[in-house]
Parts: sequence; structure tokens; C-alpha cells
Amino acid sequence: MRITGRTAVAGVIGHPVEHSLSPVIHNAGFASLGVDWVYIALNLAPNRAQDALTGMRALGIRGLSVTMPHKTDMARLVDEISPEAQRLKSVNTLALDEQERITGYSTDGDGLISSLHAQGISLEGRSVVMFGAGGAARSVADALLRHGCSRLDIVNRTLEAAEIACQLAPDTSSALAANDRAGVSAAMERGDVIINATSVGMATSGHALAINDPGSSPVDPTLLRANHVVVDLVYHPRQTALLHFASQAGCVAVDGLGMLIHQAALQQQIWTGKFPDVEAMTRAANEALDAAPSQAQQ
Ligand code: NAP
Repeated sequence: MRITGRTAVAGVIGHPVEHSLSPVIHNAGFASLGVDWVYIALNLAPNRAQDALTGMRALGIRGLSVTMPHKTDMARLVDEISPEAQRLKSVNTLALDEQERITGYSTDGDGLISSLHAQGISLEGRSVVMFGAGGAARSVADALLRHGCSRLDIVNRTLEAAEIACQLAPDTSSALAANDRAGVSAAMERGDVIINATSVGMATSGHALAINDPGSSPVDPTLLRANHVVVDLVYHPRQTALLHFASQAGCVAVDGLGMLIHQAALQQQIWTGKFPDVEAMTRAANEALDAAPSQAQQ
């Protein structure tokens, strides 16, 4: 890649971002497209979302990925907002147009769906049990229901958050408290696809998690059946306790890296109008994770 005075700039804004995998993934995507774009990580302190929008316009930064803690603030501040991002009140992508107007999008949920499709997994007519009701879970719930999932049970430690997430599709979804053993067990019996959208199982810096410890899994391993497809949004580590127990139970086990890469590919399509080579992006991400396995974040 040769950076010149004409190179278009994109990046990720978040706090912290110094261990972000996104520059590796996006620069591999831009290289695969042969476009003159570069992608960098920009640390943006909490409560500075408005400053970032002013800077984006002033500097002509063409695209930004948005991560914690700015997703909700951006949904309030952008000039235009896509229907998904409006429903979720959360933005993970900003695009600047030639009139200096900034539009906000949300690609997380569709990123998961397209990564599952790429692995031959369809959600059409499937019953899904999702653990977690935070920002990622809401975006996944919205996408699942747009892609034909027939029933969605949302299980969360805090029942109120699950009830709020269910408002995205009250006819198709129901909320369960994680400590409702009978309710969760019944949901797992009827579930085809089990998704972890909690942060349980995620490595925190310097702390390795025991892969065979049921306490590191958001799902009781005794409820896993061989016919379940088990998806973990967590990608650091790639092999979580949940995926370990899922493999032991004979399930199809899917880690979170595919979602991270596909949501980035959708961002590049918004910015450049072209869809990058996700295999090149995956190779670059794997190389980076192999080189520094303890240092990955979105
Ligand atoms: P968030 O908004 O902070 O939500 C966190 C969720 O985890 C909430 O449902 C929370 O439950 C639950 N939780 C946290 N600690 C828990 C515990 N000890 N026991 C049970 N439940 C617990 O976070 P998020 O942005 O949605 O992210 C969630 C996970 O998805 C993270 O691991 C993140 O890395 C991953 N993610 C992956 C991708 C990808 O591309 N693969 C994209 C986005 C996010 P309460 O409501 O009870 O607090």
C-alpha cells in the first residue's frame, strides 16, 4: 500500500482502541479491492462523539467504524440514520458524503447473518435462543427477525433488558431470566440455534479462562444437544468454554470472528460501493491473532 495525498482515510473510533483488530481486517479488505483507502484506529474519549463528527467533516474522513462507548451517542447526532440503526438507536458505521452529511448505519446483526450464510447456516424458519440483551444482542435480534427466524427466546441475567430487546419483535420473541431454569431448559429443547451475545467467556487482559469450566460458559453445558448450532459472538479467545462444550456435545460450533469480519465487509460496501474479499480479511485477522493472541478487541 502506498499512501499519497489522494489516499482516502477511514478508521475506528472508540475508547480504548489500541488493541483493535479492525485496522488489520479493513486494510486487508481495501487491498483486496485495490482501492486507495487506508484505515487507522483513533482513540476517542467518552462524551466526544460530537467533536468526532465535526472533525470527520472538517478533515474529509470518508468512513468511520464506531465502537464502545459511542454507538448510542452517534445515533442521536448523525444527519441521517438507516432504518436498522434507528430501530436499535445505535450506530456502528458512519459515512460522509460529498455534501458533508454524515449517515449512520448498523452492520453488526447483518454481519452475523452473512457470516452464518457463508458457512451454509440459514436462519429461515429456525427457533433461536439468544443469551444476552446488550447492544450486540439487540442488533442480532433485529437481523434474525428480518431474516426469517420463526421464534426468538432472549435469556438474560437482567430480565428487564431482555424484555426491552423483545420489543423489537413482540409477536415472535419472549424474554426469560437466566436463573429461570425450567424456562431456559424448555427454550433449549425447542431451539435450533443457540447464540451467546453476553460477554461471558471473553478473555480480559492478562487472564486466561479455563476452557473446560462450566462457570465460564453462559449456557449450562448439560442443556446442549447434538442438533444445536451454537454461535458465540465472543472471538477473543476463538475457542471459548461454550464452544468447547458445544463441540463435546456434537453441535456445530461457530466463533465470533466471522461476524467481526463480515460486519467490516458490509462497512466497506457502504463506503466504497464494493464488497471486499472476506477470505483475505480472515487470513489477515488470523495472522494478527496468532502473532498477538492476548491483544484483540474490536
Ligand atoms: P453490552 O451491551 O455491555 O452487553 C453485555 C451483555 O452481557 C448483557 O446482556 C449483560 O447482562 C451480559 N453479561 C455481562 N456480564 C455477565 C455475567 N457475568 N453473567 C451473565 N451475563 C452477563 O455488550 P455488547 O456490546 O452487547 O457485547 C457483548 C459481547 O459480544 C462481547 O463479548 C463483545 O465482544 C461481543 N461482540 C462481538 C462482535 C463480533 O463482531 N463478533 C460484535 C459486537 C459484540 P446484563 O444485562 O444482566 O448486564
